[in-house]
Amino acid sequence: MRTAVCPQCGAPSKLDAGNPSRPFCSERCKLLDLGAWFDGRHAIPAAPTDEDGNPDTELNE
Ligand SMILES: [Zn+2]
Repeated sequence: MRTAVCPQCGAPSKLDAGNPSRPFCSERCKLLDLGAWFDGRHAIPAAPTDEDGNPDTELNE
């Protein structure tokens, strides 16, 4: 049986026909991963965060 690591939770997932959610370990992880895409958590930030240190750009109106 082929197994892989679930991209969502890191648990072992089965890569056989009995797992319709493969490569995820479960339907729940599959949906969570899709949700992450829609939330933009997988997206690369286009703008620098304020950790670079100019907080007054947002506060100075
Ligand atoms: Zn999982």
